[in-house]
Amino acid sequence: MITRFAPSPTGPLHLGHAWAAICADDAGDMVLRIEDIDQSRARADHEAAIYEHLSWLGLTWPEPVMRQSERMETYAAALDRMWAMGVLYPCSCNRRDILEAASAPQEGAPLTGPDGVIYPGTCRGVSRTGARPQGVALRLDASAVGNLTWTEAGAAWALDAETFRRTIGDVVVARRDMGTSYHLAVVVDDAAQDIGLVTRGEDLAEATPIHVALQGLLGLPTPAYRHHDLVRDADGKRLAKRDDARSIASYRDAGWTAQALVARLRESRVAPEA
Ligand code: GLU
Repeated sequence: MITRFAPSPTGPLHLGHAWAAICADDAGDMVLRIEDIDQSRARADHEAAIYEHLSWLGLTWPEPVMRQSERMETYAAALDRMWAMGVLYPCSCNRRDILEAASAPQEGAPLTGPDGVIYPGTCRGVSRTGARPQGVALRLDASAVGNLTWTEAGAAWALDAETFRRTIGDVVVARRDMGTSYHLAVVVDDAAQDIGLVTRGEDLAEATPIHVALQGLLGLPTPAYRHHDLVRDADGKRLAKRDDARSIASYRDAGWTAQALVARLRESRVAPEA
């Protein structure tokens, strides 16, 4: 069973990442994927530190490592396919437009989904014919999504089409500034890497129906999913990317061995003092 650890090199590798990698490694043959589509935030030194600290932790993975920044053409091909199916439409709304439309008196309180305020559908009627538009966000028309099923931690899960439309809606699959999105890249790459089981933090569990929907539309297999608990500080707050105090580097500097750190994580997901 192939599993994956898919860090974004946008901050120091911290204890939460280490736990995610251990969960992936425990569950199968772990491959590594660098999720660096956000080129404004990805940094080469963070990526180098990922390799260094994972090796220190005793983890191994096959080479070459997949890097999302090298796969923009593959994401474009997937978008072309969905565009040809008529399930995408261009959207030029900004955050404020969306909030205002979603807050109109007749709409009641704006509902939020995995990606924030549920899109009120302002641009849904924009033409879907001709060449796929560039330099604009593309949204998935949620009415193209059918009933979804997948497995979470070995149990059958389902979401019906109507609930998807109401609670998730027309999510962005290509961001204007990126030409792709987390959702699209992850789905295309999980299939390309033959991932049988996706292990990742429970903060990403609510994105799973979006991923299953995209797999269905693109004709890709749906892997099994397992969302693991998150590492938290003693106050119960989950570790943030900026939280240098819980970086693997800081534990190493303080003299922790990899063995002690891994044993500690297996015992408890409360981050110790470095
Ligand atoms: N790149 C994401 C992160 O660093 C993880 C994505 C995933 O596992 O699906 O949080």
